[in-house]
Amino acid sequence: MAASPTTVVELGFAEPPESPLIAENFPSKVGGRPAWLNPEHILFAEQVRCGVCCKPMILLVQLYTPEDHPPEAFHRTIYVFCCKNGSCHKIAWQQSFKVFRSQLPKNNPYWSENESNPDSSTTKNSPAKQCIICGLLGSKMCGKCNQVNYCSKEHQIEHWTSGQHKIHCNIISTSSSIIEEHNNRCRKLVLFPEFEIVTEQEGENRNEERDGDNNSLNEASSKALVPVGDEIYENTDVDVDKAFLKFQKRIEPYPEQILRYNRLEYESEKNPKPLWVSDIDKPTAQDINPCPYCGQERTFEFQILSTLLNYLEVDHLQQGSLDWGTLLVYSCKYNCHVENIYYISEILWRQNFSDDGLNWKKDLK
Ligand SMILES: [Zn+2]
Ligand SMILES: [Zn+2]
Ligand SMILES: [Zn+2]
Ligand SMILES: [Zn+2]
Repeated sequence: MAASPTTVVELGFAEPPESPLIAENFPSKVGGRPAWLNPEHILFAEQVRCGVCCKPMILLVQLYTPEDHPPEAFHRTIYVFCCKNGSCHKIAWQQSFKVFRSQLPKNNPYWSENESNPDSSTTKNSPAKQCIICGLLGSKMCGKCNQVNYCSKEHQIEHWTSGQHKIHCNIISTSSSIIEEHNNRCRKLVLFPEFEIVTEQEGENRNEERDGDNNSLNEASSKALVPVGDEIYENTDVDVDKAFLKFQKRIEPYPEQILRYNRLEYESEKNPKPLWVSDIDKPTAQDINPCPYCGQERTFEFQILSTLLNYLEVDHLQQGSLDWGTLLVYSCKYNCHVENIYYISEILWRQNFSDDGLNWKKDLK
């Protein structure tokens, strides 16, 4: 292969799922219900309530990111939750996102390497009951039929009305396919649409797979991968956010990327750096505080781009709707393992486009 760029970045693209995005496939995905790495211990509504509207947040993205160290991170999934209500983000975005890290060692009661191994059955530990709508812990139950579990009062009401449970409750004769259709309709109202995240390394295979016959694009993409340093722009009079220009150049060869994963070489001395979308709104050292469990630093792991908004069925150009420039996820550098804590909170930082960048972007449309 050609000389590798200084930072290896794995790009994520949203695609309709080819196979079900269920836990045993260890999916990386957008939206839908969480596929729980640890099916016995799952998040409950109180852990993911939006700090503004107090409703349970929904899954935005989950990434399966197994790592070699420590052995407890053999299986590792990062869950990003988000309030769907854009006005909550305008009031206090810090309270409208949550990130959790979940890990399992190679030997665990749920998943085995060898599927033919009879000991691999999951019967030893029963999976937690899930909310029929959102997949969080279903700690509440319909008091009339005792058949359906919910994470919260909110989703019980939603299921009763838009999920038609008021019709199906206690009626055994209704066909299960009709019930499932109503459930899916209800989930569609509550959750983000589901997509698989497929990855491709930045700067690799692009020309064979995406633009096979176009050599000029080939050149353009390799040029764009050369880091555009400030030295190029610092003496120009262009009244545009320099970081935004650099961002535009870098994503140009892959305009449909929704995610950039940077932690591939996390063992190297240098911590990975995000691709800023603006010169403002960068987090300070205080914003990215050390891991409260092990005291080690949290480092940048991946970022979600604004292109993801196009898949979420939210009109992000409308006032008061969900919007961001990029969402940066920072996590404990050492994947610390804490006994009996199944979800470790990590940090999300939102960076918006500057006004310059925004105007520039609108002009391009
Ligand atoms: Zn909210
Ligand atoms: Zn729920
Ligand atoms: Zn019922
Ligand atoms: Zn830690």
